[in-house]
Amino acid sequence: MDESKVIVQPLDKEWHGPHVSGMDMLRLDLFDPVISGNKWYKLKHNLQYAMQQGYKSILTFGGAFSNHLIATAAAAQLHHIPAVGIVRGDDGRELTATLKACREYGMQLHFVTREEYKHKDEEDWLARLAAKFDKPFIIPEGGANEQGRAGAAAIAALIPGSYTHICVSLGTGTTFIGLRNALPVHQQLLGFVPMKNGTYLKNEIWMAIEQDKDQNWELYDRWHFGGFGKWTDELISFMNGFYQVNHIPLDMVYTAKMMYGLKDLLSEGYFPAGANILCIHTGGLQGNVAIAAELVYKSGI
Ligand SMILES: *Cc1c(COP(=O)(O)O)cnc(C)c1O
Repeated sequence: MDESKVIVQPLDKEWHGPHVSGMDMLRLDLFDPVISGNKWYKLKHNLQYAMQQGYKSILTFGGAFSNHLIATAAAAQLHHIPAVGIVRGDDGRELTATLKACREYGMQLHFVTREEYKHKDEEDWLARLAAKFDKPFIIPEGGANEQGRAGAAAIAALIPGSYTHICVSLGTGTTFIGLRNALPVHQQLLGFVPMKNGTYLKNEIWMAIEQDKDQNWELYDRWHFGGFGKWTDELISFMNGFYQVNHIPLDMVYTAKMMYGLKDLLSEGYFPAGANILCIHTGGLQGNVAIAAELVYKSGI
């Protein structure tokens, strides 16, 4: 994994307008096409921990398009650790491109119903599940644990103090929490939630924040485009326009929704004059390919 490939890329001035002093993107999507973005940081600490504690394998959770699952599969292969993926609500008969790739990376897939999957955070259920495999270290869905947060905090070390606002997309909120706990209090952290009524995450985040709990962070869930994993033609044309101007591909599940929201906030005059904004590209580009392949497949082309 080549972390030195991460760069800060300025966005086009015409795209962000003259009111703010600058808007840049931290390209965490660049160091690896599969183990991209925030997933690598969250996994790195989890894998290290599993090896140090003498676990024989790792086990984690996700849906059929999960960036976390595929990143785990690839990272585990890189570190020669056997990996098990518990897949939600899929019978495994027709694998998505994401799940096929997981298998190619050597991940053992184990399919459970949506009903069963709901138990994924219960100790008894997990103990019974773990007993079926070879002494696995269990990583929660999305890498949402202490190690995941510690890994995400390392992203903060890449962020210069000159930025006034840092923007990131949320799934489980693990990356957001890790960043918030590591960033200095003069930097405002804005979180963009790609699901409906996503501000339910506020409470969890508030509890996990270590200091100055009520300061310098905010969540927005206005730009969900119908819910998690959903999108509209408008979002797709926004992504294409963004690419034409800035030459940066966005993913339709997370980063496109964040940038669309930011565009709205810019036009609403949300930012103070002279704000210096950093948007974090958390990766996820494999999802575009997997989702597009699925669309083609379902439409029978
Ligand atoms: C997983 C993911 C996120 C969300 O990360 P969390 O730590 O779960 O909040 C954001 N962006 C992309 C591209 C992702 O793949």
